[in-house]
Amino acid sequence: MTDDQPHERYHRQILLPSIGRSGQERLRRGRVCVLGVGALGSQVAQLLARAGVGFLRLVDRDVVDWTNLQRQVLYEEADVEAGLPKAVAAARALARINREVSVEPVVQDVDAASILPLLQDVAIVVDGSDNFELRYLLNDAALELGTPWVYGGAVGTLGTTATILPGETACLRCLFPDPPPPGIAPTCDTAGVLGPAAALVGALQAAEVLKLLVGDRENLNRSLVTIDLWSLELARIPAVRRPDCPACGLGERRFLRARAPSRTVQLCGRDAVQVSVSPRQELDLAALATRLAALGSVLHNPYLIRFTVDGYELTVFRDGRAIVRGTTDPALARSLYARYVGM
Ligand SMILES: [Zn+2]
Repeated sequence: MTDDQPHERYHRQILLPSIGRSGQERLRRGRVCVLGVGALGSQVAQLLARAGVGFLRLVDRDVVDWTNLQRQVLYEEADVEAGLPKAVAAARALARINREVSVEPVVQDVDAASILPLLQDVAIVVDGSDNFELRYLLNDAALELGTPWVYGGAVGTLGTTATILPGETACLRCLFPDPPPPGIAPTCDTAGVLGPAAALVGALQAAEVLKLLVGDRENLNRSLVTIDLWSLELARIPAVRRPDCPACGLGERRFLRARAPSRTVQLCGRDAVQVSVSPRQELDLAALATRLAALGSVLHNPYLIRFTVDGYELTVFRDGRAIVRGTTDPALARSLYARYVGM
């Protein structure tokens, strides 16, 4: 590698007056966390890696699935067949795209107990999550740390984004004071999602991150932007900060203070339930794989084992967390977990 290779690589971007050589150097020193590496997150991560953002932390709890390939641009069929966690598969793809970028994959469920350490050494957080539970937790954590974050969502043919600057712009709870009750808001599970809608929102989010990293705050998006990719209707609603906002106005941190008990959650887009155990425990995956091999078919890689029995599929991670596929019933998922993994 020669000294001038970086300049060659980023030549078309350095030509942009809004970036230039000094902006490129800022991007190289940039540190960004992408929470959730699905359709939005993989689009954002790819664009930031190609742009030369120096450090990317990719956090995701899930494994690559066939239904992801329609829109999650970093993944390939081989990743599904290998049963790779998304964060690991994404990090490998980014390493092939740009070896100058340092990528840290984190295979973990993010909750109130784990979010702050993931965010405290980065400049910006990108919302690549598929659920409001995590977004409201991220809103609290970002306000607590004073870290800007870029909200994004894509459901059906509709994309939404907003850039949240703590203390300066509206926060998520200024825009939507409370999370939608379960079952009310459409999800990609119930409404589907158009690949281009996710790609567009990811591109808008990536552009906001680049503006933030080069220090161009004047041109940041200060609206709640919604675009329907099918009808091409676009709306920009001014994102006005509310003085009586419980989170950024009154300092409440309801979601960050919540205790995270052992719990089960249904996963978006999957006939599946996640079973978490608390406190986290380090499992001996090899021993578990050997034990389960007598009972059903087992796929084993360094990150997880996937065990198939009686039409159910249990993906068990090193920290004891599991995704039980073939059911949406939390009680059944926990009972399968107890039977085969033990609690
Ligand atoms: Zn607020």
